[in-house]
Amino acid sequence: MGLFSEDTPEIVEIMGKKLVCPICSNTNFWQRSAQLNTAVASFFNLDWANRSATCFVCSNCTHISWFLGN
Ligand SMILES: [Zn+2]
Repeated sequence: MGLFSEDTPEIVEIMGKKLVCPICSNTNFWQRSAQLNTAVASFFNLDWANRSATCFVCSNCTHISWFLGN
């Protein structure tokens, strides 16, 4: 697929704390931004979902940590 193979994973800090994967304790993540579009917001019937989010994908187990942006 090559979806996550274009760049190298990085250590991520959230509010001054290092992000650690809750599954495998890995500290290297790929960062991705996602626009939570109207279709998704409508599907869940949530107005607040109609905005951008940041996700960090664990480079080891691919667990995804999501953070809602503005
Ligand atoms: Zn992991």
